[in-house]
Amino acid sequence: MRLAHHLKPVFAVPGDDIHEPYLELAERDELIRTNREDTAAYAAIGAAEVSNEPAALLATRGPGLAHALPGLACALADHVPILCITGAPVDQGFQSLLPSLESNRLRLTVTDDPKEAARSLARSRPAVLTRPQAPDELEPHLREAQPPQPTDDEIDEVRRRLEGKKVTILVGRGCYRSLAGEHIERLAELLNAPIVQTMRGRGIVPEYHPRNYGVVGLRGWANHVLQEADVILALGARLTERTLPEEPDAEIIAVTLHLNGPADLHLECDPVPLLQALVKDPPETQPWEPERREPDEPDTHAYRVVKTALRAWIGPVTLDSGQHTPLTLLAAHLSSPNELIHSGAFCPMGFALPAALGAATRTPEPVLAITGDGGFLATHHELETAVREDLPITVLVLRNRELGFTRQTADLDDPEPAKMDLPTDPADLAEAYGIEVHRLEHDQTDELHRTLRDAEMQREPTVVIVELPREDIPLPGRSD
Ligand SMILES: [Mg+2]
Repeated sequence: MRLAHHLKPVFAVPGDDIHEPYLELAERDELIRTNREDTAAYAAIGAAEVSNEPAALLATRGPGLAHALPGLACALADHVPILCITGAPVDQGFQSLLPSLESNRLRLTVTDDPKEAARSLARSRPAVLTRPQAPDELEPHLREAQPPQPTDDEIDEVRRRLEGKKVTILVGRGCYRSLAGEHIERLAELLNAPIVQTMRGRGIVPEYHPRNYGVVGLRGWANHVLQEADVILALGARLTERTLPEEPDAEIIAVTLHLNGPADLHLECDPVPLLQALVKDPPETQPWEPERREPDEPDTHAYRVVKTALRAWIGPVTLDSGQHTPLTLLAAHLSSPNELIHSGAFCPMGFALPAALGAATRTPEPVLAITGDGGFLATHHELETAVREDLPITVLVLRNRELGFTRQTADLDDPEPAKMDLPTDPADLAEAYGIEVHRLEHDQTDELHRTLRDAEMQREPTVVIVELPREDIPLPGRSD
């Protein structure tokens, strides 16, 4: 397993109990100052996701850590290894907070021990380190912290259970952390077995690979490949109800550090040594080729806009939460897991813009944030950070002047529930930060393509607003 050995740049808001590491990192130009700690945490998530290495933020032990909580919750729910460094707690409790978060039976690690924090990161979990120091001291512990390895008996047991069976290989995001993609491809080719992916596991095996049948789960189109298998070899996937909306008849072998669903056999280990052993001495399975299905393309204006945007943009894309989220996920075809960064489990509004900032610190390419007008209003203040820190991000705002997804799900019988409108013009806000703004209508897709290509080449913070009519999008489990 590859683990990161550096946690920089660190995203931070300064304050009294973290002055020392803040000034030290700032002096070394290893720090990006954000305007709030929640956005610092989203930026750290963007940095970790694009580079497949842990990332860090600094927050004061009082309001700073309290502000960071949504970002830490997002990292906990989505299993992203970010470290929040804060001051030591004080007995009297004045401006001091020890967070207690839990998501799907996973608790947030809060410790003053750098080794324990490193162990948490090595298992793709966030951690809070209550010791105000630059992360340099933690980096050697990251090298030492390795996830568990499978035993020979466990490998033999998996091989025995696959023998003579129709196998489907299910790939989850955990396989990105362990760099398992090529090993999975080799095993699938040897076994003549289909591969399917969770929504967050996309691109680990490129989606153009002939054995990749697509996405399973609530919004997936390859669930039949799970239903028709004898055995599902689930790798780095938690198997929650989002991945398995219907429990399959197949036997499930789960190889993951975090299981949250059904399994007949669970190995809590790195999948790579198991894959290597199976490739070296493959079981005699039953080769099969399921029917290949493609998702329906939604007939909405927003879908055509995001499809154009994904075709135009070459670098990484971050995705916010709203009506555009499922539409963008449908329009995407990924050849690597860091091409499209989104929160699959926590889905906070306002995620895309700060996540793009963070991603832009760890990739040579400019980063595109796709957001709605609601998400833009949540964290537009970080455009100021993009300008100040000279980070090449472009924000595509799909403006339908309402909280579209919330309006659509709040009351499906009432076309205009109260207080869902967004009258503010995002252009006014962006221009206040001195940022170039382009405004287009939803049917100007050729112009949108050109505008995004130009923005990517110019490498300046840019905002592109596409005006959209109010419309509904297809929801899972509904035919309307
Ligand atoms: Mg909207």
